[in-house]
Amino acid sequence: DPTVKKLEAMAAAMFGKEAGLFVVSGTMANQVAIMALTQPGDEVLVGEKSHIFNLEAGGLAAISGVQSRVIPTDEKLFDPSIIESLIRPRGVQSPRTSVLCLENTYDLNRGIPITPEHQLTLADLAHKHGLAVYLDGARIFNAAVALRAPLTEFARGIDALQFCLTKGLAAPFGSLLLGTKEFIDRARWVRQRLGGGMRQAGFMAAAGIVALETMIDRMAEDHANAKRLAQGLAAIDESLANPDNTLTNIVYVEFAAFGLTAEQVAAQLLQRGI
Ligand SMILES: *Cc1c(COP(=O)(O)O)cnc(C)c1O
Repeated sequence: DPTVKKLEAMAAAMFGKEAGLFVVSGTMANQVAIMALTQPGDEVLVGEKSHIFNLEAGGLAAISGVQSRVIPTDEKLFDPSIIESLIRPRGVQSPRTSVLCLENTYDLNRGIPITPEHQLTLADLAHKHGLAVYLDGARIFNAAVALRAPLTEFARGIDALQFCLTKGLAAPFGSLLLGTKEFIDRARWVRQRLGGGMRQAGFMAAAGIVALETMIDRMAEDHANAKRLAQGLAAIDESLANPDNTLTNIVYVEFAAFGLTAEQVAAQLLQRGI
């Protein structure tokens, strides 16, 4: 479909990559990417709070037949020395460590933006050991807007990445997987295997084009609203939210000091028509 091709080319150009592939969801993009980059029995390095490890129904094992090795993190960043310690030397008894999976913004509960410089440090390290580097950039536009850095910076040193049209960009459907032409050719074949090939998808791609053309600049408004909400909550009680940690569009609210669960708070708000 010509509109799908237009969206794929547009997305690739925005990130300075050779080619793009329109897929159903961020989860499908992640799973297609790993299947295209690995062989069964490989090991992939994944963040302990990452979407690909926690929220994809065990897809890495079930679909690609790879084993996951978890990178422990402090709240924000992967430590290069920890990553280096997790990369296995090649050997007749060892699984092959083949992909480093990054995520930006990181940690679904908090939406922490990671600088392109830090990504590049980690990518250089992975490449030195012969790994491919994959970036789950479902929320990469939030990172770019929050850090005021160009999108192409976030693609530097990254072999393949995906972003979601359906998060802050507010389109009804789809994600884009980006990389070299060779990678995307293989990913297109894997997408077919997973039942993700599409026919008259142009009208869904058109919504994606509108999202890319009109929504990115408005993300700053989301971030400002999130900050304002966190500040308002913190003004009620400091333990409720931390505006300094509200860096993108996710507000993390903690009711423990009030002895209330989130469900109880939601029920009480509903009673008051909120
Ligand atoms: C939402 C999200 C995904 C998955 O996207 P879906 O379209 O819901 O499948 C993957 N990774 C991250 C970081 C996300 O925020």
